[in-house]
Amino acid sequence: DLGYINGKFVQLDERVIPIEERGHQFGDGVYEVIQCYNGQPFMLEEHLQRLLESCEAIKLPISETLEDFRTLILTGIEKAELQYGKVYLQVTRGIAVRNHPFPDVPVSISMTLKDTEPLAEGYRVNGVHAITHDDERWAKCYIKSLNLLPNILAKQEAQEAGCFEAILVRNGFISEGTSSNIYMVKDGAVITTPLSNHILAGITRMAVIQAAEELNIPFVERYFSPKELLEADEVFMTSTLVEVLPIVKIDGTVIDKGVPGEITKKLYMQYQELKKKALV
Ligand code: PMP
Repeated sequence: DLGYINGKFVQLDERVIPIEERGHQFGDGVYEVIQCYNGQPFMLEEHLQRLLESCEAIKLPISETLEDFRTLILTGIEKAELQYGKVYLQVTRGIAVRNHPFPDVPVSISMTLKDTEPLAEGYRVNGVHAITHDDERWAKCYIKSLNLLPNILAKQEAQEAGCFEAILVRNGFISEGTSSNIYMVKDGAVITTPLSNHILAGITRMAVIQAAEELNIPFVERYFSPKELLEADEVFMTSTLVEVLPIVKIDGTVIDKGVPGEITKKLYMQYQELKKKALV
């Protein structure tokens, strides 16, 4: 495991953030999480493109290019000797006396590189449980912002209910999970919430659309209600860290037969193929 802050690699427990740092005090920044397989970051370009878009959306004046970030991450992976693990990359509006308007200081770039274990096999084989929860977040959820309080509160409620994820509901329709995108399968078609300001454009979502295309599985982007979700043939979630994960029970209601569905399994397998092709 290794850390990085503004030009130098550090130990993870080194004290490097001054109290008056805007990520720390305001959550004034954005981030990315990238999964590393066999020492290689998967869909790195896409993650970095989204990071640049998040920076632009909150008017963070970064001078680093996608290429600069790529070099930084690859250097970090090498230094940390990371094989299977996750890279967390964060950009904030820097270190300045606490005051709301933008300061004229350099942005702060920090990163952690951590060895991780793959998701417990039981979750994949049996599927996970979820709750539904009001989407109490702001109107710009397409930005991968550091402000995660509503996500954290909903996730905690899920955990306290013995569940893995909270599925967020806005204006009567499913938006996404607290840290995932949500899908249902009905009559052979995969259905997911359309991209808008209210959800994050998941990188795994992008890969799953490609996987569905390769498998000739119909893929539809449309809004769906919690009621439709409970009556679906299959439900699953995606994220960089969980990949494609079946959800078999929501708010105590069993989805179909209560076991991972066939289309979910096929998409998971095709996602593994995409990884194999991308990683040497
Ligand atoms: N939505 C939210 C709110 C998230 O935090 C995440 C995790 N980054 C996702 C969706 C899934 O995105 P990705 O597939 O890029 O990890």
